[in-house]
Amino acid sequence: MSILVFLEHHGNELQKGSLGVLSKAATLGDSEVAAALVGGGVRALASEAGKFGATRVHVAEDDALEPPLPQARVDVLAKVVQDGGYDTVLFANSVLAADIAAGLSARLDAGLNWDLTDVESRDGNLIGKRPALQDSVVVDVGWRSTPRLALFRAGSFDAAATSGGEPEVVDVSAEYEAHSQSAKVVSQEQEQASGPSIEDADVIVAGGRGLGAPENFTLAEELARALGGAVGATRAVVDAGWYPYSAQIGQTGKVVSPKLYVALGISGAIQHKVGMQSSNVIVAINKDPNAPIFEFSDLGVVGDVHEIVPKLTELVNQRKSG
Ligand SMILES: Cc1cc2nc3c(=O)[nH]c(=O)nc-3n(C[C@H](O)[C@H](O)[C@H](O)COP(=O)(O)OP(=O)(O)OC[C@H]3O[C@@H](n4cnc5c(N)ncnc54)[C@H](O)[C@@H]3O)c2cc1C
Repeated sequence: MSILVFLEHHGNELQKGSLGVLSKAATLGDSEVAAALVGGGVRALASEAGKFGATRVHVAEDDALEPPLPQARVDVLAKVVQDGGYDTVLFANSVLAADIAAGLSARLDAGLNWDLTDVESRDGNLIGKRPALQDSVVVDVGWRSTPRLALFRAGSFDAAATSGGEPEVVDVSAEYEAHSQSAKVVSQEQEQASGPSIEDADVIVAGGRGLGAPENFTLAEELARALGGAVGATRAVVDAGWYPYSAQIGQTGKVVSPKLYVALGISGAIQHKVGMQSSNVIVAINKDPNAPIFEFSDLGVVGDVHEIVPKLTELVNQRKSG
């Protein structure tokens, strides 16, 4: 198998999700694993990719690739896949990566399996693992032809550095399709963030309507800060304008699988559940002992978030300083 992993970066940092996919690819045995870095000033990130298992890194640096738009990246990846003869292209899910994967699938007439949580090599075939029926079962999925494209759910793999050496760096200069240049980024706003993003966080503290008021989200923020995590939210509070849409977890928000998910005042509606139930450990605090969230929590605390959360945060902070 010859695998290409698309590495997404923000600023000077490679995204943990794509490094996780790269680490996984490197364990697939007998596979040649390369990475693609696309954007402005990305060359410096190539050796980092080597540490996570890439033996070759295709680097496309161009002003046209500076804005985080998918189409020009599709042009680059199509060329890399065709010139390099890659039979497999892997992506870690993000808004940008999903657009690129879909575009590349159309361009190369290639099958794309999305929302995968794992992959394995069986008798030389690649088998994807895809949760189905609201995550109650995991099904094996395959591809009828190459190249095979796959998009993995956020948090599917840990980014594990290998003892890999310096990768070979290959420059890519792609020609852009006329339509690839027709979209322009007019302005970009940077959301102030003081911690990991929801997609990258090992710990998510999510708040629901049980917090009672928008200002009480500080409870979630302080606990998240203490645990080194990110803050998530239910749709009910996002719709009410208590917290930004980017934090929404669930069917119409983000699907996450952190190591620890702490749910504060969240009922556990099915549309929320499908966005977080594959988290490793779920802790719920809810004053209603019959709240549905307790049916799929590893640890449930029946009580008032206003009483419990400040004490919990204090305990975590004490433990950290002790
Ligand atoms: C098509 C569709 C798509 C949807 N997509 C999503 C989605 O992506 N994500 C999502 O989250 N929802 C989604 N929803 C909405 C979903 O159905 C629920 O309405 C929503 O998740 C409920 O949010 P909540 O848990 O914050 O609020 P509620 O259901 O009102 O629950 C609040 C909980 O807080 C508890 N509580 C109250 N006070 C306290 C206190 N002081 N201390 C402790 N606990 C307390 C209550 O017991 C209750 O269990 C969708 C709905 C539809 C129809």
